Amino acid sequence: MSRGVLFVRPARPTEERAVWRGGSLSVAERHRHEVIVIGAGLAGLAAACKLQAEGVDAQVLEAQERVGGRVHSMRQLGSNQEAGGTYIGAGYTRIIGVAERFGVELIDVTPMLAFFREQELVLGNEIIRQADWPDHPANLFNGDDRALMPWTYYRMLTVKENPLAQPADWLAPDSARHDVSVYDWLKGLGFDDAVIKLAYGINVSFGKDASDVSALLLFFRAAFSVAQRRLSPEGVAGYTAKNGVARIPEAMAAALDPPAQLQKVVVAITSEADDTTVHCADGSVYHAPQVVCSLPFGVLRHIKIEPPLRGLQAEAVNTLPAQAMTQVYLAHKSNFWEADGFSPSLFTDGVAGMLAAARNGTDPKEVTSFTAWTLGANATRLDALPPAAAGRLVIDEIEAIRPAAKGQLEFLGLQSWGTDPFAQGGWAYFKPGQIARFAAAMGARHGQIRFCGEHLGRASRGMEGAMESGERVAAEILAL
Ligand SMILES: Cc1cc2nc3c(=O)[nH]c(=O)nc-3n(C[C@H](O)[C@H](O)[C@H](O)COP(=O)(O)OP(=O)(O)OC[C@H]3O[C@@H](n4cnc5c(N)ncnc54)[C@H](O)[C@@H]3O)c2cc1C
Repeated sequence: MSRGVLFVRPARPTEERAVWRGGSLSVAERHRHEVIVIGAGLAGLAAACKLQAEGVDAQVLEAQERVGGRVHSMRQLGSNQEAGGTYIGAGYTRIIGVAERFGVELIDVTPMLAFFREQELVLGNEIIRQADWPDHPANLFNGDDRALMPWTYYRMLTVKENPLAQPADWLAPDSARHDVSVYDWLKGLGFDDAVIKLAYGINVSFGKDASDVSALLLFFRAAFSVAQRRLSPEGVAGYTAKNGVARIPEAMAAALDPPAQLQKVVVAITSEADDTTVHCADGSVYHAPQVVCSLPFGVLRHIKIEPPLRGLQAEAVNTLPAQAMTQVYLAHKSNFWEADGFSPSLFTDGVAGMLAAARNGTDPKEVTSFTAWTLGANATRLDALPPAAAGRLVIDEIEAIRPAAKGQLEFLGLQSWGTDPFAQGGWAYFKPGQIARFAAAMGARHGQIRFCGEHLGRASRGMEGAMESGERVAAEILAL
């Protein structure tokens, strides 16, 4: 990167009154850097680490008191509970590389995943054992497919019927014809509405139902999973981080100089010809010729950008949805599952969502607590309640499903991503047609502002996609 390009203006006084069109800030500090990075999630931190490694004066501004964003280890719950990014694919080369570089120990989760797969299916109030599912009257799948549980069925189809040769192809103009609803895609495969609801209607990861999400997004996800499996060492399903995945962003942030500024809620980004000003809610103002913005679009749409985003990029920022997602953390007073003989974990079609027995001790056989991972419309239902009432509702539902759990569960806490003002949802998803419509425009540079974040991962998803996008924009700046 040429410093001449970045430092085109003389430094300004560190303190002066800050004003931007449409509003004014009180007496404010001004700070000048070569690059301002907004957000200290994995994308922002990946960008900042890469820039600083090349000697660039990159300043991270983070709204919260902690770094990590949607990587959030709930240490206050007293065990290794994760509220966000948890599973590190064995082919996540960026995350694994950064963990190695900063001395964060990774744990092979393969032994735990075996228990995770033991969950029973719950339809209405009926618990259906996996062994009973192939012959169960509620099973609407055909032939050999009857052996598949609903949560694996659409995943199997997106692998088997996947038109993408490699993950990054989802953004290719040729792929636009697959940017139809999951409903239309499954209809095209000959499934009726009842099968579609069973295959893509229970606690789904993207959208509210099969009509709300693009099949092309599911193909991207499946292609990424397949690519991950190819990269995995024999017998290793994936990893998590010892003492919490938040150790990774924390270690990245600890290496930053200048350090990330916390509790800096960015409210506006204003650009002139060769200078961009980032305005924070506390009145502080940061200047740089280049800005990296890693905010989820649901957050970004509430931030004033001057000159404003235009056309399809503005439409993408304003309309790209994010998944409603709420986790309810529960402690158990006894091993109630030994009384009813069902697996401790359930995959339900109600507010308990995917009730997963956490195994965060040294012995994967030991259940340490429970988390209800609730997605979509049921998460929105929980989000409308005060946390304790949401916890009560989830416990009531579990008790109605399995009487052995009566009085045995205690509400510990709740994490709602949909109501988190700094996330506005668990992860972005694309409605039918949105990928083709937004592919070229959504991540485009806007003057001196470059965008990154998991929603802008091109060949990778989740935590790895966030890192990929952050490294990409850093490389663009370094190439200036
Ligand atoms: C429940 C859950 C489970 C997940 N599980 C997995 C998994 O197992 N594996 C996987 O790979 N991925 C998983 N993910 C996805 C993964 O966690 C995310 O893709 C990734 O962490 C996103 O990183 P990011 O930097 O793009 O965004 P974020 O982490 O959201 O970072 C954005 C940052 O910007 C900050 N910010 C917001 N507003 C402002 C503002 N106005 N001013 C300044 N800063 C602001 C936020 O506080 C945040 O720190 C999961 C996500 C969730 C929610």
